[in-house]
Amino acid sequence: MQTLEKLNRRFWYQTPVSETDRPILGAVVGDRMTLMIDAGNSKAHAQLFLSELEKQRIPSPSMVALTHWHWDHIFGLPALDIPSVASSLTKAEMEKLIPYRWTDDALDERVKSGVEIEFCASAIKKEYGKDRSIKIKLPDITFENKLEIDLGGVNCQLQQVGGDHSPDSVVVYIKEEKILFLGDAIYGNLYASKWNYTADSVLQLMDALDQFDADTYILSHGTAISKSEYQEEASLLRKAAKFTKEFEGQLEEMKNAYQSYVNRELNDNELETIQYFANGYELQKTSAV
Ligand SMILES: [Zn+2]
Repeated sequence: MQTLEKLNRRFWYQTPVSETDRPILGAVVGDRMTLMIDAGNSKAHAQLFLSELEKQRIPSPSMVALTHWHWDHIFGLPALDIPSVASSLTKAEMEKLIPYRWTDDALDERVKSGVEIEFCASAIKKEYGKDRSIKIKLPDITFENKLEIDLGGVNCQLQQVGGDHSPDSVVVYIKEEKILFLGDAIYGNLYASKWNYTADSVLQLMDALDQFDADTYILSHGTAISKSEYQEEASLLRKAAKFTKEFEGQLEEMKNAYQSYVNRELNDNELETIQYFANGYELQKTSAV
C-alpha cells in the first residue's frame, strides 16, 4: 500500500509501487506555493497523491515539475489542472508519444519492434487493466539546462543532468532542506536490448550531481536515502565506470578488480551494476562498428 511520508515540514513524498511501476511523487511545500514533483503513471496515481495531501491539510500543488519523459512520470498529467514545467528535451520526447495507441496489441507490437520494452508494457497493462484512456498532455512551461522556482521560504533548483537512464533527466534540488530529488537519473538505460550503464556518461553524471550539497537523496523507484548511503552508491558507480575503461568491459576482470578493491564477496547490487557496465561497453562497441 502506498503511504504519504513526511521528511520534514517542507517535503512530503508518496511511496512507490514496483509492480505497476508507480514512482515516488513529491510535494515541496512553500509559504506561497506547493510544487508537485512528477505527475505519476496514471490519473488514478496523481489523484491518489492529491487526496493524500488533502488529508494532511497540505496546500494543493500550484505547479508540477517533471523529471523526465518516461510514461510512469507523465501519464498522470491530464488529472492535474495546474501548470506543468519540464525541460525542452522532455517535452520533445513526450511529443513523440502522442501518436501511439496503448492497447495490448499496440504495446506488444512496439515491444517487438524495439520501441517499447517488455518491463514498461507489462506495468502499463497492470496499472490500467482494460481501461486504457491514456492521453499525452504536454508540459506548459519548458526550460533549457536549469530553472529556479521560489515557493516562498524554500527554493527549488531544477537542473538537467542527463545520464544513461534518460538524456533529459532533471533533478530537483530543494536548497534550504538539502534534499536532492534524483528521479531516475542514476539508474541504468532500460530502453536497450540489455540494461546498461556507459562509463563516460556515468562519470559525467556523478560530477554534475556532486555540485549539490545534499543530506537526503530521493530515488524515484526506491526511497529517501541518507548522504552516506548515496555516497556508497555513487562510489560503486564511479569505481565500476573506471574499471570498465581499465578492463575494456571484460566482466570477469571487472568483478575481480572490484572484489579486491572492497576486499569481500560482492553483493547483488554490485554484481548487477558491474554487469550493466559490461553490457554498456559491449553495446557501445557494436554500435561504433
Ligand atoms: Zn525512468
